[in-house]
Amino acid sequence: MSENIFDILVGSTADFSAIAIEAEHGERLSYADLNAQSARMANALFALGLRPGDRLAAQIDKSTDAIILYLATVRAGGVFLPLNTAYTPAEMAYFIGDAEPAIFVCDPARRDVLEPIAAAAGAALVTLDADGGGSLAEAAAASSAEFETVARAADDLAALLYTSGTTGRSKGAMLTHGNLVSNARTLRDAWHYGPTDILIHALPIFHTHGLFVATNVTLLSGASMILLRKFDPARIIGLMARSTVLMGVPTFYVRLLDEPGLTRDASASMRLFISGSAPLLAETHKSWEATTGHAILERYGMTETNMNVSNPYIGERVAGTVGLPLAGVEVRITDPETGVDVTAGEIGMIEVRGPNVFKGYWRMPEKTAEDLRDNGFFITGDLGRIDEQGYVHIVGRGKDLIISGGFNVYPKEIEAEIDAIDGVVESAVIGLPHRDFGEAVTAVVVPKCGAKQDPENILGTLQQRLARFKLPKKVVFVGELPRNTMGKVQKNLLRDEYFDLYGN
Ligand code: AMP
Repeated sequence: MSENIFDILVGSTADFSAIAIEAEHGERLSYADLNAQSARMANALFALGLRPGDRLAAQIDKSTDAIILYLATVRAGGVFLPLNTAYTPAEMAYFIGDAEPAIFVCDPARRDVLEPIAAAAGAALVTLDADGGGSLAEAAAASSAEFETVARAADDLAALLYTSGTTGRSKGAMLTHGNLVSNARTLRDAWHYGPTDILIHALPIFHTHGLFVATNVTLLSGASMILLRKFDPARIIGLMARSTVLMGVPTFYVRLLDEPGLTRDASASMRLFISGSAPLLAETHKSWEATTGHAILERYGMTETNMNVSNPYIGERVAGTVGLPLAGVEVRITDPETGVDVTAGEIGMIEVRGPNVFKGYWRMPEKTAEDLRDNGFFITGDLGRIDEQGYVHIVGRGKDLIISGGFNVYPKEIEAEIDAIDGVVESAVIGLPHRDFGEAVTAVVVPKCGAKQDPENILGTLQQRLARFKLPKKVVFVGELPRNTMGKVQKNLLRDEYFDLYGN
């Protein structure tokens, strides 16, 4: 049997009459509609020249058609490459030049500016907008609703997702049909997902979280999703009464907590709130539980590996941890220098292995060899430890580790102490070049509205709680921390901005 993910998500669904997607304006698509519309789209893509193994790049707004484009691409044997709608033409030139897609789909409004980029890469340029318009939508409408799904093996590529790349060039992570299917199955089982679930889908779909975790798990379960174009906290609270699951980045939960409508009653029919893509503050976890009665389930994963670790559905969801390794996924903690397992409980590099782990970086064999060991373990770049109960704690990105005066300083430990101080909303601790120390621990702090901005207050509190070498040399106050669209704090931007703070 073919292992094409399309067959597994849609083609073999138990109930074709069930609703798969409810769109922004109330339009509802059943699994039968997804089957027919993806067939039309797949026929249109084939006519445009897409052949098995070819890439299809898409820089389009979130819509039901965007989901259908993803399904049609994999159904036709193509490799789906979604791109952040915020990327500029200069950034797009890199991705399109690197991936060399056979087809490039963009919004009609961007066609003229992207035309030369598509032409240089030899890609056919077609358009699709969020309201069902564009040349590809027209071609699909005129195509047959019958399409025989192209047979694919588990090891064939289904998607190419570029990593957010906070340092250096973005790398294309090659994900196979088998990678995506295995992770969707694992998450469905881990989170007790079933046909009666209704997901509030408010994440972007150019990222692993919104495209694979949210969309694949929902379709695999025969469940439905309410597709929102963007995050709208009041709207989400309004939808909770007829939904069961929300998947979000931590910023979603912080913003929802600011809404007066968020109450125990408003969220009473929800069964699960999931958070990931960036660390959820223990404080947010606690406030959420106090306000709604639900404990957020935090999980951990990344573009290259899909999801690896999750707090349990049944059992304790521990704030500040990402939970236990998922079924079939091995997690080990190693010394970043030697690659040897650390003593139980110690901090080190998180490495993961399992059917979810990608095939390698697109056209970067050296980088692949550096990060993906011969024995199948992927070196995640995240530092963490495993506690006595087996829960994984992430202490930060390896590249965010600060080495000050020869001592390792883990930013997360200091951030947690600062965030607990009265009058502080949140903080980011970074290392900046310093003549004596090599790197100086520096705290960038967001104070609460109207709170006194007093570095001495912060330092005074920290002195009682942290070893001297961990204390920030300086505290800088800012209105907000720079974040990317997935809610991750962009420490590289802070390091650039304050590069000269110690006047080296
Ligand atoms: P991406 O490839 O964009 O999904 O980013 C993956 C990275 O996000 C991981 O390597 C982690 O550094 C971070 N990340 C994802 N989930 C979590 C989490 N629950 N807690 C802390 N960091 C996370």
